[in-house]
Amino acid sequence: RLSTSTLAEEPISPSVHINYTNHLINGQFVESASGKRFPALDPRNGDVIAHVAEGDAEDIDRAVAAARNAFDEGPWPKMTPYHNDELAALETWNNGKPYEQAAKLELPYVIRLLHYYAGWADKIHGLTVPADGNYHHQILHEPIGVAGQIIPWNFPLVMFAWKIGPALACGNTVVLKTAEQTPLTALYAAKLLHEAGLPPGVLNVVSGYGPTAGAALASHMEVDKLAFTGSTETGKIVLELAARSNLKPVTLELGGKSPMIVCEDADTDQAGQCCSAGSRTFVHEKIYDEFLEKAKARAMKRTVGDPFKSGIEQGPQIDSEQFEKILRYIQFGIDSNAILECGGDRLGSKGYYIKPTIFSNVEDNMLIATDEIFGPVQTILKFKDLDEVIQRANRTKYGLAAGIFSHNVDTINTLSRALRAGTIWVNCYNVIDAAVPFGGYRMSGQGREKGVYSLMNYLQVKAVVTPLKNPAW
Ligand code: NAD
Repeated sequence: RLSTSTLAEEPISPSVHINYTNHLINGQFVESASGKRFPALDPRNGDVIAHVAEGDAEDIDRAVAAARNAFDEGPWPKMTPYHNDELAALETWNNGKPYEQAAKLELPYVIRLLHYYAGWADKIHGLTVPADGNYHHQILHEPIGVAGQIIPWNFPLVMFAWKIGPALACGNTVVLKTAEQTPLTALYAAKLLHEAGLPPGVLNVVSGYGPTAGAALASHMEVDKLAFTGSTETGKIVLELAARSNLKPVTLELGGKSPMIVCEDADTDQAGQCCSAGSRTFVHEKIYDEFLEKAKARAMKRTVGDPFKSGIEQGPQIDSEQFEKILRYIQFGIDSNAILECGGDRLGSKGYYIKPTIFSNVEDNMLIATDEIFGPVQTILKFKDLDEVIQRANRTKYGLAAGIFSHNVDTINTLSRALRAGTIWVNCYNVIDAAVPFGGYRMSGQGREKGVYSLMNYLQVKAVVTPLKNPAW
């Protein structure tokens, strides 16, 4: 029976202190100009719980003047683009990617990633399981602890957000090591997160080299989970370091040599827009010549130059090491009798610019078709039928992504199921979203990141089993 509750003798003391009773004007707590105060009451008993500064016209004037000044002088009305501009400029300055790409594509994506994972923070919960026996089975999802994260240089800010988003949303703390080539934007973004209220120690960013800082993180006994993005070669090293230290679980996002398959019914204009993306481009023999011409024309029109200049599609390579490596692969291509259709050497005499390069007549076993070059080099291969191209496309140690260009639903269904890769793009390429998992088959990685799939990487699962005193209920 419902009973009328009786009032406790003593009101329950709330677990909060009243610290702020002055006006908050221009970022400061200030007394009223008049010095007057008025009481705030507890409606349970009419007790006065605080004396609050009592404002009048003069205080309103001061507050309005502060708001007027903050609006007119800024930076608040222009605040969001302010940091965007700085972050995009730093990203381009340190990485060489076109400023327009950093500002208009990657920064909005970084923000989307962080919003997406912030949205998960209050939706991560366990389960109860109706298992056998008179027991209550709870499955708790707990944060793992300290997450170590190592990222590469090619998408410094995107990788930063992609890694810290799920780790923090699940309640972990983070030590992130940026790539030695690109330390600047993660530091800037981490500072902003602290200004937004992240408690000290929760997110730590360390700049440094792989064999020193990176290896120390991967093998640290107090790091409970490791997430790595980078080359397959380094992925193997960090996996071993993790195993030899404390067997911390590891997720790996590694290299790729993604096939793009352009079928005979494909729209070659559309496929031609992606000349730089699928590094092994298989083209059906019936449209091979037409495709090659379009790809060549597109590559030659591609604007390469100072990434801060508007309209630039391709900036310099990251450093002399990558630059030399790409030129070496181009030479392998020439030596192996592939046909160099365009590009093939550096652009200008300063900086690490490389002309968009296309090889045709490429055979599956040439080095330019098997190895990840990681530069603006497209290899074009000819195929006759689907079974053949499936076999050839899958004959790689990688399995990160694949592209299909066709309008035939049967072809699309067959290829998208047969290709062994973590992402299959159909009549599009490089479309990514925070909510969609990403990761590789085979030596392109272990596990999946982004979407809900990232969350389980950062959670411990605990089963709690309790006897039920009254099983009937
Ligand atoms: P990398 O493997 O050389 O370096 C990646 C990170 O690992 C850097 O922070 C580096 O300092 C660190 N590192 C290097 N040696 C280490 C060691 N011994 N111990 C611990 N850490 C070490 O890769 P990179 O050249 O910076 O990046 C390019 C590679 O990243 C390419 O292979 C590319 O395909 C891959 N990548 C993969 C994805 C993905 O999601 N699968 C995304 C971006 C880049």
